[in-house]
Amino acid sequence: MSSEGSELGKAMLEFHEAMDRHRRFVRETSRCRTCAYFVAKVAQRGSSMEEPEPDPVQGILGRCLRRAPQEFGHPITYETAWCGEYERGEALP
Ligand code: SF4
Repeated sequence: MSSEGSELGKAMLEFHEAMDRHRRFVRETSRCRTCAYFVAKVAQRGSSMEEPEPDPVQGILGRCLRRAPQEFGHPITYETAWCGEYERGEALP
């Protein structure tokens, strides 16, 4: 392989490694917890329902308001979940 070809190969490898690091960073930081569409489930005022306890692994339970509600309302999700439609919003207190 010519030195030009090996330089290109090295540049491509560095590019792919940088993309992998970026994808890992996005996956680790772009969670429902900080997504603009996440609403934590809280007990309704006057309701006898108690506030749900956070799951020890998945955290706070909530709903994703990214799209219109379906038959059973908005999809249920945990603060630690994520999807490709993440949009940065306010972190939960
Ligand atoms: S499922 Fe996706 S769009 Fe919905 S709150 Fe989580 S990251 Fe945001």
